[in-house]
Amino acid sequence: MKPHIDNVIETRGALILGAGVAGLFTALKMAPFPCVVLADEHPGVSGSSARAQGGIAASVGAGDTWQSHAADTIAAGAGLCDPEIAALVAREAPDRIFDLLRYGAPFDRAADGSLAVGREAAHSAARIVHVKGDRAGAEVMQALAHQARETESIRIIEGFHAIELAVEDGRIVGLFARTWHGPIQRLILIRACAVVLATGGLGALYSVSTNPPESRGEGLGMAARAGALIADPEFVQFHPTAIAINKDPAPLATEALRGEGATLVDETGRRFMPAVHADAELAPRDVVARAIHRELVGGHKVFLDCRKAVGAEFATHFPTVYEICREAGIDPATQPIPVAPAAHYHMGGIASDARGRTSLDGLWAIGECACTGLHGANRLASNSLLEALVFGARAAEDIRANTHPWHSRGTPPAPARSAAPPVPRSLREVMTRYAGLERDASGLSEALARITQIERAGGHEPSLLNMTATAKMVVAGALARCESRGGHYRSDFQNTAATGTRTFMTLADAERIAAADAAAPAGPARAAH
Ligand SMILES: Cc1cc2nc3c(=O)[nH]c(=O)nc-3n(C[C@H](O)[C@H](O)[C@H](O)COP(=O)(O)OP(=O)(O)OC[C@H]3O[C@@H](n4cnc5c(N)ncnc54)[C@H](O)[C@@H]3O)c2cc1C
Repeated sequence: MKPHIDNVIETRGALILGAGVAGLFTALKMAPFPCVVLADEHPGVSGSSARAQGGIAASVGAGDTWQSHAADTIAAGAGLCDPEIAALVAREAPDRIFDLLRYGAPFDRAADGSLAVGREAAHSAARIVHVKGDRAGAEVMQALAHQARETESIRIIEGFHAIELAVEDGRIVGLFARTWHGPIQRLILIRACAVVLATGGLGALYSVSTNPPESRGEGLGMAARAGALIADPEFVQFHPTAIAINKDPAPLATEALRGEGATLVDETGRRFMPAVHADAELAPRDVVARAIHRELVGGHKVFLDCRKAVGAEFATHFPTVYEICREAGIDPATQPIPVAPAAHYHMGGIASDARGRTSLDGLWAIGECACTGLHGANRLASNSLLEALVFGARAAEDIRANTHPWHSRGTPPAPARSAAPPVPRSLREVMTRYAGLERDASGLSEALARITQIERAGGHEPSLLNMTATAKMVVAGALARCESRGGHYRSDFQNTAATGTRTFMTLADAERIAAADAAAPAGPARAAH
């Protein structure tokens, strides 16, 4: 049955869903081409962007080169990065940092006035621009939100929860969004000449995550349900050092702390990373996360010991982490911080090209919900805000050059109140237990069966369908990839294949994998999927 639509609005220009760094930067680069930015929460505050602590990677430091940045990106990606995409991102990175400076981002400066750069894991040079130590995300978002509000061509509408893409003759022509006016829920169709998804990641589909509740993977789910090609969905990155103080989302002890020399120790003070990897605490994220996971599964506790490396400077150099620790009764200058891995970043996403275009006409995807091929199987630290900037600028240029604003019709919606349903606890538990840091065929089969049950029990609630579609893509991709690579570790296929291929699949492909799996006999036959 078709849902009742309370209002149809035709916007004059593009419609951007999401007001994180990807959404706002795309809107700013699009000006003076008109656009509406739609978000369920307050722009500049919602999503992961405002929580980013480390900073943004760009070869702006003395002696650094974009070639070295691209090479580090490719090395971290475990054989699956698209080298052309890595090169174009690394090449364009400094210009996007200068854009942010123009928009008012207050990046830290060195004594000589040049941009101060820090070093993070798996970067061969100091190339992370930051703000007041660990406030990069919050400060950049504040600057972008301010700039967007001052820009005439940008209209920001908050309080709307998008649930479905609108498709006409095979083209995306807008989206359906829900909102609440007092006790009354309304469904609105917003039509636009171009739709940009900038909805962020999927971490909140996991029980332990650094992502806020908005990161439910709904943009990916909406695109998948409309038939879009999804790339590399199985690759989820787990941050090794979320602060283990039973908070949701789990706060982060930024990677920059290990860059400063902080060490990982167990409850006896034993350092375990030197025995695992030559780069010890600065090894790639997946290596560090799995090493911590194994220590925890082995019955140990794990701590990040910053006493020597940061010590008395903690409060001034890492004020955000310092405050979080103090609130939990820990003084990180004198006490080790308890840590555990948490779902953090989705390398996969809606397949998109160098202009941010997806496989569906009229639909672009930018930021964490997209998959450009930059990250491959594992993201290099501080490359994700950068990816949003580079492709936000490119998509904006593409839309400006190739689409034409319409005449607007209907009354633009006034800000209202969004009520996105929470991720069902059962879904979060399934993803954490079976599609987390270590996976195997029988667990992934179980996950597919349980996701289908959760979906059926929820009727046809579109928001839930978005989440289960995304969860299914992750699990089906993981089941189909019979090797371990980057962020994807199969305990039943621990080796990495000689040559890696990227995953490209639709929701229909994932459904076929689930159906074939359900029909397969249990046991070793399943493992050979
Ligand atoms: C704690 C933390 C620290 C990080 N540190 C760094 C770092 O130092 N450097 C780095 O490069 N990366 C970092 N990352 C990753 C980076 O922050 C994200 O990848 C990036 O911010 C994603 O930006 P985005 O604009 O794509 O999505 P988000 O910033 O997540 O924004 C998504 C937007 O979409 C909206 N939205 C989603 N679904 C809907 C819907 N159905 N209807 C309406 N609105 C919707 C949300 O409300 C939000 O406005 C960090 C991530 C976390 C969680």
